[in-house]
Amino acid sequence: MKLSVVGLGYVGLIQAAGMAKLGYEVIGTDIDKEKVDNINNRVPPIYEKGLKELLDEIVPRKLTATQDLKKAIKESEVTFICVGTPSKRQGEMSLHQLENVLKQISTVLDKYHVFVIKSTVVPGTCENVVIKTMENAGKRYKVDFSVVMNPEFLREGEAIEDFFAPDRVVLGSSDEKALSIVKMLYSEFKCPFVESGFKEAEMIKYASNAFLATKISFINEIGNISKIYGIDANVVAKGMGLDKRINPHFLRSGIGFGGSCFPKDVSALVYKATELGYNPRLMRSVLDVNRDQPLKLIELLDRSAGPIKGKKIGLLGLTFKSGTDDIRESPALLTIKELLMEEAKLCIYDPKAMDKVQKIFPHLTYEKTGQDVIKNSEVVLILTEWPQFRELDFGNKLVIDGKNLFYDGKRPKNYMGICW
Ligand code: NAD
Repeated sequence: MKLSVVGLGYVGLIQAAGMAKLGYEVIGTDIDKEKVDNINNRVPPIYEKGLKELLDEIVPRKLTATQDLKKAIKESEVTFICVGTPSKRQGEMSLHQLENVLKQISTVLDKYHVFVIKSTVVPGTCENVVIKTMENAGKRYKVDFSVVMNPEFLREGEAIEDFFAPDRVVLGSSDEKALSIVKMLYSEFKCPFVESGFKEAEMIKYASNAFLATKISFINEIGNISKIYGIDANVVAKGMGLDKRINPHFLRSGIGFGGSCFPKDVSALVYKATELGYNPRLMRSVLDVNRDQPLKLIELLDRSAGPIKGKKIGLLGLTFKSGTDDIRESPALLTIKELLMEEAKLCIYDPKAMDKVQKIFPHLTYEKTGQDVIKNSEVVLILTEWPQFRELDFGNKLVIDGKNLFYDGKRPKNYMGICW
């Protein structure tokens, strides 16, 4: 069975490469010519552990990329749709990319085709947008086409590992035939499969991300209170996490969550719930705590090494987490903005995201190594938990850690943590 994948970003490229590695012939499509060319030349357009080796193995034998969406649809029987669903200004999910793809697809269908929605979409989207758009173009659901909602749960930085060993596969549909086709495609996965209706599958993704985001804001709030008390929140988290009902994951306080998922998905859930007449107080608070968390780092900097104006401040890490080059909604970017408003002099290093950040802030000092950042600054802020930063020689420089880098290791001499 030949497959296609629409949208070759952080999710789509892993899906395409993963299915190719499982043995399927995959044609990936994206509007971004540079991305398509890079993939065909086995150059990963994003940083993800193991991706280069995987592309070397499967391109072009099992995976090819093209800008021609219609060709990709015509040549395949099942299509995974992995385009972005970014936030609009008020937090509402934007369906612009998805609608654009659906309109093009609906004009080329000439035989039964299954569309698997991997993009994160609010409940109701598969039925009210995906199926409706196709039907409006004269295609018959379950006859000419079918739809399965298959939310993605990968972690950037561990995405390939997560693809091959997911905790669960969620499949939502009202078409048994389409469900059995997608189940067959994933038959090598040994994890539990959850089958449901469309809306339940759509909601499982939002509920999962909202829960993880809540855990982070929760431990950040405990961390903020602990800091005032003079309590080490890491010790508190350790004591809590040993309780099986709680578990230790996502209990590391810091400058808050970022990335392309948690902020956007919680905002979309808040927006949708409010539209439906429900006031999602807990989710609003999760976002409120998170919005303020990078400012705690600035407050600590001001208290311990102020005034900030004119101070040479070194920033280590720019991505929202280690293991990726993704800077979307990274707390580091907010920190840069705040420090620039306070007229600090910034020098910066990140192992994977310098080019991307340079496009947003062209006038900062970009250092060649983390050690250069330490050498050329008066105070160092840790904004991403890249493990290699642990090996740096911080000497007597004041280090303020927003990411719990030394969670289980020896801390620098002159060290402060945001919540510990
Ligand atoms: P992304 O922005 O990295 O990738 C989207 C890709 O779609 C881009 O390469 C873009 O050029 C392409 N695209 C847009 N319009 C297109 C069109 N008409 N035809 C072909 N390609 C088109 O986004 P992402 O991070 O991969 O996320 C994709 C979806 O998966 C989102 O809904 C996101 O919420 C969800 N998701 C993301 C993650 C993650 O960790 N990044 C995890 C789970 C779910």
